[in-house]
Amino acid sequence: MICARCDQPMTEDESTVYDIPGATGPGVKIRAHKGRCKPPPQPRTYSYPSR
Ligand SMILES: [Zn+2]
Repeated sequence: MICARCDQPMTEDESTVYDIPGATGPGVKIRAHKGRCKPPPQPRTYSYPSR
């Protein structure tokens, strides 16, 4: 599975569910790494090697 915060793969054992309270209405649950994890240093870009 993929962490919702850092977008990295994680195992079931490393993951936990966080409740994110919504501004209006019910919050959402996300599955992310336990504890802290770093967001990716740069936005996802798909670069293709030039050949
Ligand atoms: Zn993570």
